[in-house]
Amino acid sequence: MDHQDSTVNPMSRRARGVQFWQVARRACQLAAAVDISFFFLFHILESPILAWINVGSVAIYAGAYYALQRRLNRLAISLIWFEVIVHSALGTILIGWGSGFHYYLLMFIPALCVSSMRRFAILSLVVVLWGYYIALDILMWFIDPVQPVSSGALLGVHLFNLSIVFAMFSYLSFFYMNMVVSAQRKLRKLATVDSLTGLFNRRHGSDMAEKEIARFQRAGHPVAFLLFDVDHFKLINDRYGHEMGDKILCEIGRLIPAQLRTQDIVARWGGEEFLVILPDTGIESALASAERVRKAFRSYKWTSATGESVEVTISAGVSELGQNDDMASVVSRADQALYRGKAGGRNRVEQ
Ligand code: GH3
Ligand code: MG
Ligand code: MG
Repeated sequence: MDHQDSTVNPMSRRARGVQFWQVARRACQLAAAVDISFFFLFHILESPILAWINVGSVAIYAGAYYALQRRLNRLAISLIWFEVIVHSALGTILIGWGSGFHYYLLMFIPALCVSSMRRFAILSLVVVLWGYYIALDILMWFIDPVQPVSSGALLGVHLFNLSIVFAMFSYLSFFYMNMVVSAQRKLRKLATVDSLTGLFNRRHGSDMAEKEIARFQRAGHPVAFLLFDVDHFKLINDRYGHEMGDKILCEIGRLIPAQLRTQDIVARWGGEEFLVILPDTGIESALASAERVRKAFRSYKWTSATGESVEVTISAGVSELGQNDDMASVVSRADQALYRGKAGGRNRVEQ
């Protein structure tokens, strides 16, 4: 997957397309390996026409693989379709419906469905495939195999084809499941994480806070809240530019969590405001944590794009969850404490 694709919506047609072509390349290798084994198998079964067909098949898969590597995707897909359609028909007509060569046509159904084509195109191709499959089936009701093999050999070919199709279906299903799971993971991240700071966003921060509040009500473990706000951030933006402001916010995404425990939850609450939830923490340790963060801001060497040293300070309001509290009241108390910190001269922690 190239760099750009990691930022694209994981459920988008483009993201699905990238993975689809990876699988297509692997499928070419697998199919070529199967056809090489067919070449020997049909020589042993004394069916030379079918054996030599596989030489053509391997050449087509090599061509398709080469085309995929050069991103000639349409050409590659056309080659693969051509090979499977012709090979399954020839195998069926030469040694009979019982050979199971027609099963390979069914492989196109999941392959089409996970492709990045539009729904209408997928549906149309499935219908065409169905027509072709039915036509081949009907044909074999009326004609005898052109180059029949012994019934033992036919059973062997049948079981071989059936097994390969089973393996390929399983592989495609696993591929599709992995794709869905990884897309879900990426979507969850997009929905819970703030892209600038890498911290949780406000919505996820609220959800986590509600969980901690429920835990407090159930088990009585203390929970503390810290509300941070960067001092005079508007001035910093005005003086050093919005980009410098963003750079500071980005750095804050590392600086605040670095002063806290792994179980502490840090969310970007607003522009330059951050809410921290401290599970199993009373007011005294919460004040100490806030103080640690404040000091870390003071001692951090903030520099502008021109190398100028920039002073960045932060104020914090601290509150501890009480029996009669809900999310709004405990955050509001932290907010009032923060306001006192601002009014008292900033760069301070208040409770
Ligand atoms: P105080 O010390 O009272 O908190 O002053 P302040 O200037 O920090 O507070 P104010 O709320 O007036 O201004 C916040 C500023 O934060 C205004 C806004 O432009 C800036 N800001 C909010 N979000 C972003 C952002 O994502 N990037 C940048 N660069 N600035 C932001
Ligand atoms: Mg603010
Ligand atoms: Mg501010």
